[in-house]
Amino acid sequence: MRLVVFGAGYVGLVTGTGLSDLGHDVLVYDIDPEKIAKLEDGRVPIYEPGLADLIHRNQKQGRLHFASTITPPFDTPDAYFIAVGTPPGPDGAADLSAVMAVADTIAKNAKANALVVVKSTVPVGTCDAVQARLAPAAARGVHLEVVSNPEFLKEGDAVNDFFKPDRVVVGARSDEARQQLRELYAPLQLSGERLVITDPRSSELIKYASNTMLAIRISFMNELARLCHATGADIHSVRLGVGTDSRIGKKFLYAGPGYGGSCFPKDVQALAALGRENGLTLRVAEAAHQANEEQAQFLAQLVEKALEGVMGKQVTLWGLAFKPETDDIRESPAIKLAKALLERGATVVGHDPEAGPNFAKELKGAVEVRERDYDALDGSHALVLLTEWRSYRAPNFNEIKKRLVTSAGGLPPVLVDARNIWRPSEVMRAGLRYQGIGVSLNRVTDRPSQPLV
Ligand code: NAD
Repeated sequence: MRLVVFGAGYVGLVTGTGLSDLGHDVLVYDIDPEKIAKLEDGRVPIYEPGLADLIHRNQKQGRLHFASTITPPFDTPDAYFIAVGTPPGPDGAADLSAVMAVADTIAKNAKANALVVVKSTVPVGTCDAVQARLAPAAARGVHLEVVSNPEFLKEGDAVNDFFKPDRVVVGARSDEARQQLRELYAPLQLSGERLVITDPRSSELIKYASNTMLAIRISFMNELARLCHATGADIHSVRLGVGTDSRIGKKFLYAGPGYGGSCFPKDVQALAALGRENGLTLRVAEAAHQANEEQAQFLAQLVEKALEGVMGKQVTLWGLAFKPETDDIRESPAIKLAKALLERGATVVGHDPEAGPNFAKELKGAVEVRERDYDALDGSHALVLLTEWRSYRAPNFNEIKKRLVTSAGGLPPVLVDARNIWRPSEVMRAGLRYQGIGVSLNRVTDRPSQPLV
């Protein structure tokens, strides 16, 4: 098939490239000329494992193109994909202006019948609104059918997710559109429940429901972790005891610095806003968001308490991206913690294998980002681990001890392990103090660490 993908971001780039690898002819279109110039030049504007090789391979095969104008033969594609951003507006509801701008472009320029596939995460009813927006094309006799096909990729593992998705969800009104989507994804050999075919409104809600369900698990565990600090219970034991119930399961039960990224925070708020617009208070979604906001403040307090005050002290953050294997810092817990520490009078130094430049840009010079992980420790009183990159998993604690400094009054440096991945006994053997999430300071428990994600 011949396909046009609008948006060369994390979703559009992975989807467009993945579809070209399945043998389709793909044009990825973006309004950002700088992005397109880089891509045409063989440079990839984001960090996503495996993506650059895949782009280069399909560019060489002549199946993958990048442009900021749509020229023949891509002016008559079989399908348009909308993969532009839907950021939160001031009230938390999704801002659909980019989606509607794309709909207008298609409505104005489409010359032949085609599908319009909405991959962006959009509130229930958006596909219908996009369909109405395409009326100018219909008036010219060009039939465009809007289909919902939300994206579930995980940044850091997005290429793998494209080729081996847990499921693909398609919300379409006509049998023809359903059949076309089936054919499009046929090479992925999705059997049984891995291809969920439904109506557009249910499909749109599935996306928000999935992300909110995951966010709820995280927020609940974070609240339990805070309760552990207050009561002396241990979050690791609680997680094991709860997660071994097969009805609950072990995944997504890890306490941490709170969820971040461009999806969970905005999607939870957008679902709550959708409830309000429909006269419903979605209390569970609202609470998940509230608990997540509080977790960021809780973490700042934990660091402050461990250092007996942060005013005039230096704190190093390892892990600035919102998760490992990405350079994406949108809504990253590191941003919230850095700001909270700066407000309390601390100096903040950061390191990340990929996200350093994005973080430095976001914090506008208020934080020093250093190139090398251990160099980022020099002169700091505490190290906070925020993102569990592989290179941080088994560090040399003796080297960390050498680099960090003792606070006035002889208080040894502290490691605040916001991902609970280090063994407290190893940390303390190096003469450091250990503070995990949901465990008391310096508590030594021999426990399984978090699995790699
Ligand atoms: P992004 O911000 O990385 O990329 C969006 C791209 O769209 C940008 O390059 C921007 O220049 C481009 N754009 C904006 N207006 C345009 C227009 N009128 N025409 C063409 N291009 C235009 O966003 P993203 O992270 O790829 O997310 C896109 C959508 O997918 C969002 O709705 C998001 O919620 C959803 N989603 C994201 C992820 C993820 O992990 N990032 C996962 C699943 C779903």
